[in-house]
Amino acid sequence: MKQLDKEFDAMPEGQGNGAGNVSSLLDGNIDIAAELKKFEAEERRRLGLEADKAPEQWYDEVPNTFTASQRAHTTVLVCGLTMAHDLFIQAALRGIGYNVKCMDVPDNAALQFGREFGNRGQCNPTYFTVGNLIKHLSNMHEQGMSKADIIENHVFVTAGACGPCRFGTYVTEYRKALRDAGFDGFRVLLFQQTGGLKQATGDEIGLKMDPQFFWGVVRAILIGDVLNALVYRIRPYEVEAGATDKALEAAKGFISDAFETSGSMLKALYKARKVLGAVEVDRTRTKPKVAIIGEFWAMTTEGDGNYGLQRFLEGEGAEVEIQIVAAWLLYMIWQSGYDTENRARLRGVDKGGPEGSKFSLEGVDVRKRLISLKAGEAVLRTLFQTVAHGLGLYDYHLPDMKEIAAISDAFYDNNLRGGEGHMEVGKLIQNIVKNKVNMTLSVKPFGCMPSSSVSDGVQSLITEMYPQGIFLPIETNGDGAVNVYSRVQMQLFKAKQQAGKEVEKALAETGQTMDEVQEYLRKHPRLSHAFHRSPHKAGCTTADLVHEVAAHRANRKLGRRLIGSAMGAYRHWRERQREGLRVIEVAKIAAAKAKAKASAKVAVRVVSDEERKDADGPQVPRGRTALNVIN
Ligand code: SF4
Repeated sequence: MKQLDKEFDAMPEGQGNGAGNVSSLLDGNIDIAAELKKFEAEERRRLGLEADKAPEQWYDEVPNTFTASQRAHTTVLVCGLTMAHDLFIQAALRGIGYNVKCMDVPDNAALQFGREFGNRGQCNPTYFTVGNLIKHLSNMHEQGMSKADIIENHVFVTAGACGPCRFGTYVTEYRKALRDAGFDGFRVLLFQQTGGLKQATGDEIGLKMDPQFFWGVVRAILIGDVLNALVYRIRPYEVEAGATDKALEAAKGFISDAFETSGSMLKALYKARKVLGAVEVDRTRTKPKVAIIGEFWAMTTEGDGNYGLQRFLEGEGAEVEIQIVAAWLLYMIWQSGYDTENRARLRGVDKGGPEGSKFSLEGVDVRKRLISLKAGEAVLRTLFQTVAHGLGLYDYHLPDMKEIAAISDAFYDNNLRGGEGHMEVGKLIQNIVKNKVNMTLSVKPFGCMPSSSVSDGVQSLITEMYPQGIFLPIETNGDGAVNVYSRVQMQLFKAKQQAGKEVEKALAETGQTMDEVQEYLRKHPRLSHAFHRSPHKAGCTTADLVHEVAAHRANRKLGRRLIGSAMGAYRHWRERQREGLRVIEVAKIAAAKAKAKASAKVAVRVVSDEERKDADGPQVPRGRTALNVIN
């Protein structure tokens, strides 16, 4: 004790000796609160902090002023969706008078920039997208442009939201990384999912959110979606390697020219349709169909952000089914409708204004809002199908958001938001129950909050309930591509076997050989056209084709064929209606089973420590009288 007193007394002024000694402290003879106050006063004096001066709050500047007068010398940077989308958005905005540049797809070099200048513990898409902007600006600086010029003459436009996941912090991340990388003051304009474009100055806005702007962006997104979906259908079956990519480049050129020069989009789509339709395909080569689902950015990007999965899968002999941006827009509309309906049923006061909620329905005509949302959805679906039929994408069904919500709610509550919300669960159930694909691959970014709980938690329950489904969640963190590829290859092997069995079964059921199917296709080239789509029967495209050829052979005579195809279309429509109801029923039964299992509550008495060690059953935590046994 004496030794401790000595050490305590030897400490510099203000750090111990002023507070008496350890013996007194231990004896309880010291007023600790008074000593701490004294110590604080001494420290404040030593650090030059005035006691009576009010602390200055830290404030983060938000540089986002972009005025119309700056438009002529300002380049708007965009990036974030697929290559086709980014290109068309660039062209659409150029067409209405902006200087726009779309940046490259984020790669591993961008990730390194993100890791160097971003905060710790972010999700992977944050690192990739934030790093991509820093990489782009750093490259411009390396090529000789001064940082002042870069800041003065460029703005970046990106999507943002107020949460609930890390998406809500993206814009803050951009500011931090830009500041640390030496681009303090660079403007990031936030295109909020729910609030339009944020603009600091009220007067003359640089980026005008007028109907012309929206029309351009919406068309760019829809055309990008259709082109992507079409190309992923054609490329796996191309006869001449590289023919689809060649046609795709030409198609992109026609469309972006039309956007940029305000030329005829109809003509451009027709020209694109012609080059894409000329690609020769052979759909008798069996390939497993693999759906890529998961976190929105990670499943959409076409670069290192998901290890280039789409191309990797195609290279391994699969047909890839991608998710499109229009589906995300439909989800946004569904969210808005769902929340409005639920909020309208509140019995208490739904106060708005500065003291209430920003989601308040006070003074809102709920009926009118719901009707506008329905009308918005109808317009979006009609526009999509118009572009789809114009380009040659037939029989493409946009997701039914109500059905997805109904089948997933019991497993992942519809009120849980962030990332893809319940959609990921609903898509997996649909894929398995409707036999839409042979394998589902979920891309889950490292550090993602919503996707981790879905893929890690809920989806394992879904796969337990539907063991026939082939499902693989993969985590993307920018490293370990070889590990990911090898895991994908292992599951793909099973999917290939499944696809092969489907084709064999289809041939056996219809009493044909593959040679006969090929012979029939040679005589009826319409069925081998790049845009042709066989009615859905199985997970893989070849099995669908075998069934279709069989149906055609059975209806060879013209009259019978016409009646047959009309009846076939009707049957197809009826089947789809029934299928939807069946999926909801199956999901309800599965959910009820899961609930019954999970709610087994075992009441136990409090046990002593000794008994606790000897207990046979599950260990009961101290102080608990009951234990929920979750199967
Ligand atoms: S969904 Fe996940 S990966 Fe995407 S922004 Fe949110 S936390 Fe990040």
